[in-house]
Amino acid sequence: MTGEVLWAPSAEGRQPHDRVVLVLDRGELRYRDQRKLQGIWVARGDDVGRIQGRQGPDALDIGAAELRDLLCRRRGELKPALMDQALVAGLGNLLVDEILWQARIDPRRAAASLTDAEHARLHRGLRRVLSVSVREGCVPQRPGWLTSVRARDDAACPRCGRSLERRQTGGRSSYACPHCQRPP
Ligand SMILES: [Zn+2]
Repeated sequence: MTGEVLWAPSAEGRQPHDRVVLVLDRGELRYRDQRKLQGIWVARGDDVGRIQGRQGPDALDIGAAELRDLLCRRRGELKPALMDQALVAGLGNLLVDEILWQARIDPRRAAASLTDAEHARLHRGLRRVLSVSVREGCVPQRPGWLTSVRARDDAACPRCGRSLERRQTGGRSSYACPHCQRPP
């Protein structure tokens, strides 16, 4: 998602968004992120499994059938379901918007209401967007991707050219194309 790990040789240059600072003998390791973290856990050995037990399967590894089963048992809208780390771990706001736009699925659809074709498109979109984003270290602003236009005032869909719909939920902006992401 966001954030970066930085090395600094001294305590100089700390910033308000440095959420974690590890002071070491020869400098500092800082985790800097505009977002506030839910928390930080120090784990050793077997603790790692216990901490990760709070999370659903990793989005990078999840299979099409597993994702489908999880969504079919879920109440409520699709987008918050995909962003719920207890359901699937690793998907944030930007990623989910990009995946749903590439898969041409309305984020407000009921999670359990997807057709076979939509489940297939969703999983393909997830694989594609994640593999590229992991390689590049962010959701890239590639030509033809939603992320390349979403920050603009007059954001238009890279696929059909119509105006994107922007909605504000819980302090986060959601972008979707009301034409390409219509229910079937
Ligand atoms: Zn469109």
